[in-house]
Parts: sequence; C-alpha cells; structure tokens
Amino acid sequence: MSKISFIFPVYNEEESLHALFTEMQKLIERLPNDEVELVFIDDGSADRTYMMLTALGHEYPFVKMVSFSRNFGQQIALTAGLDYASGDAIIVMDADLQDPPNVALELISKWREGYAVVYAKRRTRHQEEVFLRKIVAHLYYRLLNALSDIPIPTDTGDFRLLDRKVVDGLKLCREHSRYIRGLTSFVGFTQTSVLYDRHNRFAGQSKYTLLKLFKLALDGIMSFSVKPLKVISYIGFFISLFSFLGATYITLKRIFFQQYTVPGFTLTIILLSFFSGMQILILGIIGEYIGRIYIEAQNRPLYLIKHKINFPDT
Ligand code: UDP
Ligand code: MG
Repeated sequence: MSKISFIFPVYNEEESLHALFTEMQKLIERLPNDEVELVFIDDGSADRTYMMLTALGHEYPFVKMVSFSRNFGQQIALTAGLDYASGDAIIVMDADLQDPPNVALELISKWREGYAVVYAKRRTRHQEEVFLRKIVAHLYYRLLNALSDIPIPTDTGDFRLLDRKVVDGLKLCREHSRYIRGLTSFVGFTQTSVLYDRHNRFAGQSKYTLLKLFKLALDGIMSFSVKPLKVISYIGFFISLFSFLGATYITLKRIFFQQYTVPGFTLTIILLSFFSGMQILILGIIGEYIGRIYIEAQNRPLYLIKHKINFPDT
C-alpha cells in the first residue's frame, strides 16, 4: 500500500470545487489499495473557496488545506503543496477539471513501473482556447528549449506525478522566481510522459491574467538560462566589429583617394535610433537579471499561511 497525494492550487474556484471533489471521490474508489490525500492550497481566494474547503475538511479527514494570507501565484501555491504533501507519489493538478482526473490513473501505473516523474503531455489543446494563445504557447516552448541548458518537455503544463525523492529534491530549490516545470527537469531522475486531451475549464474563467502568464514565461526563460546575456555580448561584439570595419574603410578612402564623404543625415538618425534602442533593450535584459538577484538577496519567505486544516500540528 502506498500513499498518494493530490495537490491542487486553487484561486477563486468556488464554481468548480464541488464537481472536482465528486470526480476525485470516484477516482479514489478506483484506488482501493492506496491511501489518498487531497491537499488544496487556497491561494488567497476572495470568493467562497476557503469556506467550502473548510467545510470539506471538517467532513473528510483526507481533505487538507493550506490557506495563504494573500494571492501568491500558482507556482508558489504548488511549492506549498509540495512542502505539505506527505505521499510517496504526488500528483499536481489544476482545480478546474482541465486536467481529467482519470489520467491520474495512467500516471500512477507508470510510476509503479518505476518512473520517478510522469508528466501529462497535451495531445490537443481545446478548440475554445484562443488560436493566438496556442501559437504563442507553441513558439514559446520551442524558444525556451533553444535557450535553456536542460531540456524542458514541450506542451506540458503542471499536470504531473512526482515521486517522493523528486519532491525532496524540489524542496531544496527555494528560489523566488519559480518555474516548477523547469525545476522538475533540473532535478532529473527517470522521466516519462503520458498523452492526454486537455478539457475545457469546468466553470469560470482562466485565473491567469495575460500579465501573470507573461511573468511565468519570463521566469521560465530567465531562471533556466543566462543565454540572453551571452547573446547580448555577441551583439555588442558584432556592432563593434562593424563600426571598426567602417572606420577602416573611410580612413583608407581618405588616404588613398582623397575622398571626403558627405555624411547622410537620414542614415545617421536611423543608426542612432537603432543603436539607442538596442542599448535600452540590452540594459533591460541585464536589469531583469539584476532584479532577480535583488529579490533573491532579500530572501523573503516564499509564502505566508493564514490557516491550515487537517495537518498534524493544527
Ligand atoms: N491558480 C492559483 N493562483 C493564481 C492563478 C491560478 O492558484 O494566481 C490556480 C487555479 O485556481 C487553477 C490553476 O492554478 O487551479 C491553473 O490556473 P488556470 O486554470 O486559471 O490557468 P490555465 O489553465 O488557464 O492556464
Ligand atoms: Mg485551467
């Protein structure tokens, strides 16, 4: 008999919670030989999520909740889930039923075969998802892999199973700009994937704003690669080389042909604004890394807890 934990980051999911819980109860019936716990991380929800989870927790001891003092974001909520889950295998899922619970059974059987990380890979994204978002997601994963030093599986969300030893490894990574998918690759161990069809959201709207999504995408690139910094050096090098060649050319022309070129005003302005733009961009990239160093140096806690339910010390 093994213990299996499910962790769900939840942020204003009052409309999905009951359906999710019913689905999970069905799933638990199909795992008769295992002990199951459901760990919900209430990421500072402002609706009835907290109350509903409290009620569930009082009724069912295997429903556990960690409630944050405010909204810290999904990746941090996942971190808390990993910190508090005590299973031999830990399954990370969305609370909106976009990740079909039945796929969890496939993840578990792969785990029993001996894999330490089993991630669920999207065969299809649902039609309702905006076309543009699909394309951007596709390109993003390719870019991320081109830049990152360790391979990060494409087209996978956070839906995955992690063995206890992987979670113990993840718990050692305490950086603030977190990208759990990348960290899982960093930790290593034997990894495999299972294909699945991603459903529509059961209710409500995506809790990811465009800004949050952009931040996550940037965290993915910045925390797994210093290549943008290298690219900057290359750009700088080629610009210098280019101007050096230009200078040589003009000097030689003056010496040997006594030619004095009249400077083109338009060209000057174009070059000037091009290189100013370049400099600002480059400073921005460097600034982005420095900002991250600053945040790590502050070393604030990753999250603060308001309330816990069904954990031994509460
Ligand atoms: N979520 C969270 N904190 C946030 C945003 C989202 O805990 O600040 C949760 C949300 O409740 C859901 C999961 O993270 O269970 C995935 O979010 P969502 O479904 O909105 O993202 P999408 O599937 O649209 O990418
Ligand atoms: Mg979702």
